[in-house]
Parts: sequence; structure tokens; C-alpha cells
Amino acid sequence: MSSWIEIPTNSDFTLENIPFGIGSAGGNPRAATRIGDNVIDLDALQKAGLFAGLNLPEEIFNQPVLNDFIELEKPITNAVRARIQELFAANNGELRDDEALRVDALRSVSEVQMHMPVRIGDYTDFYSSREHATNVGTMFRDPNNALLPNWLHIPVGYHGRASSIVISGTPLHRPKGQTKADEAELPTFGPTRLLDFELEMAFVVGKSNALGTSVSVEEAESHIFGMVVFNDWSARDIQKWEYVPLGPFLAKNFGSSISPWIVTMEALAPFRSASPKQEPKVLSYLEMKKDHNFDINLEAIIETEGGASKTVSNSNFKHMYWSMAQQLAHHTVNGCNMNVGDMCASGTISGPTPDSYGSMLEITWRGSKPIAMPDGTERKFIQDGDSVIMKAYCEKNGKRVGFGEVRTKVLPAT
Ligand code: MN
Repeated sequence: MSSWIEIPTNSDFTLENIPFGIGSAGGNPRAATRIGDNVIDLDALQKAGLFAGLNLPEEIFNQPVLNDFIELEKPITNAVRARIQELFAANNGELRDDEALRVDALRSVSEVQMHMPVRIGDYTDFYSSREHATNVGTMFRDPNNALLPNWLHIPVGYHGRASSIVISGTPLHRPKGQTKADEAELPTFGPTRLLDFELEMAFVVGKSNALGTSVSVEEAESHIFGMVVFNDWSARDIQKWEYVPLGPFLAKNFGSSISPWIVTMEALAPFRSASPKQEPKVLSYLEMKKDHNFDINLEAIIETEGGASKTVSNSNFKHMYWSMAQQLAHHTVNGCNMNVGDMCASGTISGPTPDSYGSMLEITWRGSKPIAMPDGTERKFIQDGDSVIMKAYCEKNGKRVGFGEVRTKVLPAT
């Protein structure tokens, strides 16, 4: 697909993508898409009549979150995406030849501030990478029994906190909390010394299910609107002291960062891939009859305050042992109701080799193998002033669909 607007080589935002987000350029935040380095105001296109025929509610794009748009469901949201592709196709003059509207509706990305794309009601974090669970189990428990007995049978997860999920570009302060050194008798209070990222992706629920009903593996992707890159910030020393018996709490809920553009499942469809073989066989409600995984390249970068940057991980979403379809089927199998805008993160996505591990905990193996930065400093974990940048994209047969990035700067503890 070629467009009449310029799409730089290697852009994540091709005509095949057409993600959805919330942007503002001086005015009120409202729905937008991105092609190349242009952000397109969907409200302006609707008011100009370019979505006539789709029977969209008035002002559907003139809202600070996408929840109501997503709630229109896929027959409508897919038609909007297809119409945008049509409007920007090289041979289409409807918008191309309307200079006044073009000036009104298109903005350079550098002029646009992005905002949280959805109002997230509830947030769940899974733990679905076998390599990550094995690495953590090896470090903290027993290398010979790294996976707990339930792990190969259940997509393990915990309920996180939605209020502290923030958009890319939002700085976070180093959290404070209780920690206890192994040799210490009592805990102490202070800023975390082991601030870490977790390289994850998350899906946005696109269709609710009523309390008491379940979503099957086969139906699950029709309940998923799309995906974002997700950095699940973690304070390892706080985590270690607090997590038994009920799991993560203050080590995780001080902030999680997401990329601003929700890439739809339809845009990701060409990059479908097989999951790792599941052995032992899963219970029937978790069985997959087709491929539900996706080949998405992932990268994590540390950038110092002085601008020295280094890629510390190259992973891939396809390493996930449990698919999103299985996660959603499991999440609802007991009748738990999910709502439009709910977010489910994958868990840290570690690949099989050390250069594909998805957290500093694993990359530096609890700090025993520090990373050399290009400015001569070392990193065991994340320091004040550092930014962590995560990127994700799919590429196949010369076609690229990507997510852009999520970028977060760490400020000192307050
Ligand atoms: Mn996590």
C-alpha cells in the first residue's frame, strides 16, 4: 500500500498499521491516528464528512479517551481503519486535494502531545514467559525446580493497579519502601536500590463479557482491541521482602508505562506465529486450535542523563508460552467480567539467550554481571536520571507495523 503522504523508510506507522491514540496540539485531547510522522485528527475528518456512511455517533472522536469508540466493536472500528487506509491511499484525492482540511487535520508528530489512550478500569499482569519464570525461579528459589508446579498448567497472573499506568514521556520518581537485607534482622525504609524495568506488552480489552460468563480461547481475540508496549517498573528489593504470600504489591504499583498508540489485532494479523510447544498438554478450556502468538520484535534501551545509550535487550513476543487468547480465556473461566479498556500485560518477555532477557534482574543476573555503558559507567539496575526506552515492531515480506516507543525517565526519590 502506498500513500500520498510521505512515510519514511522503516517507519512503524505504515498504511498497513493505522493505530489509534489520543493526541492534542494546543486544543483538547481527542482521537487520532498516525501515518509516517503525521498525526491525523480523526475528529476533524469526521466533521468534514469523510466518515459519512459509517453511521458513527457524533463527537465519537472528540473525547479524551477511546473507550466509547472501542465499544462500537470491531465491525465499526475496523471499517474506520479501512476508511482511513482508503483516504490516504496514493490514488485517493478526497483529502489529498483539500488543502484547508489537510492543514487542519494533519500535524507533525513533534507538535503533538500524546495522552493515555484509554481509561483503564482494571489491570492484570501475567507471568507468561517460560524463560523469565525459569530465570527468576533459578535466582530466588531452586535451579532444579525453577518453575513452580502450577506454572505449566495455569497462565499465572496477579491483579495490578490501573491508576498508576502512565503514558510514555511521564517521568517516575524512584519509589521508597521497606526492604530487608538477607543478613539483617529487621527491615529498613528508604528509596529502592534495585529499580528495574520489565519488557512487556499489554492488550486492551475491546469487548466486555458479563459477570458469570466466560470467553473461550477461540473467541478471545475478538475481545481484544489491540496492543501497546508496556514497561512494568519493579523495585526488586521491595518485591523480595513483600511478595510472600500474596504476590507483588508496592514493588509494582508505583508506575507502569505504556506506548501511546494502540496497534489493532487486525494490523498484527499478518504477523501471527506459533506458540512454543505446550507440554504437558493443557486443560481443554486452554487448548488452542490455531496459532494465537505474534512475531513482534522487542528492544529495551537505557539512556543516561548525558545521552549515552545502549540496547540491553532484544527479545520477541513470540517467545510467550501462554498466548493472549489463553490469558483471556483463563481470566474469565471463573465468570470474571472484563470491561472495555481493561488492560492485561504479558509479564516480562525474556528470550532464550542472555541478550534477550527482559529485565535487569536477569540481564545482570542479580547485579553479578554489570552492563558497561558507552560513557564508561556501569549499570546493575536503573539509576536516577536514566531513561528506559522500549520499542516494538513487526516485519515480514517488506511490510512493517510497529508501536513506536515507550520512554520513561527516572527521577530521584521525593
Ligand atoms: Mn511484570
